[in-house]
Amino acid sequence: MRCPYCLHEQSRVIDTSHDSRGGVRRRRECENCGQRFSTYERPILATPLIIKADGTREDFDRDKLIRGIRIACAKRPVSAAAIERLVGEIEATLRSIGRAEVSSRVVGDMVMAGLKELDQIAYIRYAIVYLQLDDLKSIRNEIDRLLEG
Ligand SMILES: [Zn+2]
Repeated sequence: MRCPYCLHEQSRVIDTSHDSRGGVRRRRECENCGQRFSTYERPILATPLIIKADGTREDFDRDKLIRGIRIACAKRPVSAAAIERLVGEIEATLRSIGRAEVSSRVVGDMVMAGLKELDQIAYIRYAIVYLQLDDLKSIRNEIDRLLEG
């Protein structure tokens, strides 16, 4: 780390502390001029771009995802906190994948898996939109699959 006073390239770390947000603060001393300074390192957690079905890319939109899930959960006993938690888990998973882009299917499948645990009616509603189930037979197949699984 370059010294901000004399621009010397070498400094020595005299203290390291971690903060609650996963950052690392280091107290350093320049090997040339002896001045002390601090640096702060923080991991950059980037959410990958979402590749939509038509091939276009968009930023992961947490609010949009919450809106979609809320609609599926309307008048169902699913708390706002549970929806927030699900979306938070999805976001954390997307970041941990460590890829620049992921298919929107990956996100949709995670929502489906989460809703299946939370509320089966909400799951079916979401499936109708997400899997574009546009006739009773395919909706029934999905319900059968849910009942079997
Ligand atoms: Zn220096």
